[in-house]
This record gives sequence, structure tokens and C-alpha cells, in this order.
Amino acid sequence: MNEERGRFLTEAAGWCRHDFDPDKHVNTYSLDAYVCNKCKGFILGNNDFSQEEDFSRLLTWVTNQEQLREFRARFDERNFTDAGNGPSSREDFANQLCLLLKSRSA
Ligand SMILES: [Zn+2]
Repeated sequence: MNEERGRFLTEAAGWCRHDFDPDKHVNTYSLDAYVCNKCKGFILGNNDFSQEEDFSRLLTWVTNQEQLREFRARFDERNFTDAGNGPSSREDFANQLCLLLKSRSA
């Protein structure tokens, strides 16, 4: 989990950086969930883009951004879901996207 990268990409995409009290969890079956103070959503935590679920949302966002088309074209989607290379491919994508967006906003 890369906290700083998760926060940066969440804000870049215009999503809610959830604000919740880790001590006030709602136990649902075997999962610990929280209610976000900002969006009032029922959440499991903040985005961690190395996880497949959060990553797929990031990938969809990038795919829909005109100005990120060139960046997106450098990656083969199949690598992200690959059992062996998936985690490192997702890490690589998130890290490079972070660097690119930071260089553009500088
Ligand atoms: Zn939220």
C-alpha cells in the first residue's frame, strides 16, 4: 500500500479521499467496513491502486482521459490481470501515472 500515491491519484481523478474513523467500524459478515464522513459512502478503506478492484477503476478513468491517451497506449491491459506479473504491472502503471501527472501540474 502506497499511501501518498493513493491519495494523489484519488484526488487527480476527482474521487473522494475517504475520511473515516478507523475505530468506528461496522462489522458486516467477515469484513470491517466504515462510513465516510465526506461522501457518506459505505467503504472498506481508501483506494489502493495495487489492488485489482481499485486498479480497474483507475484504468477506466485513464482510458477516458483524452490527454492520457498516449500514456495509456504504452500499456497492455493483459499484463494487469496476469497472475504472475499483475501486481508489479499495476504498481508500475500507478507509479508512472503519478509521475506524469505531477510533471504536468508542476
Ligand atoms: Zn468518501
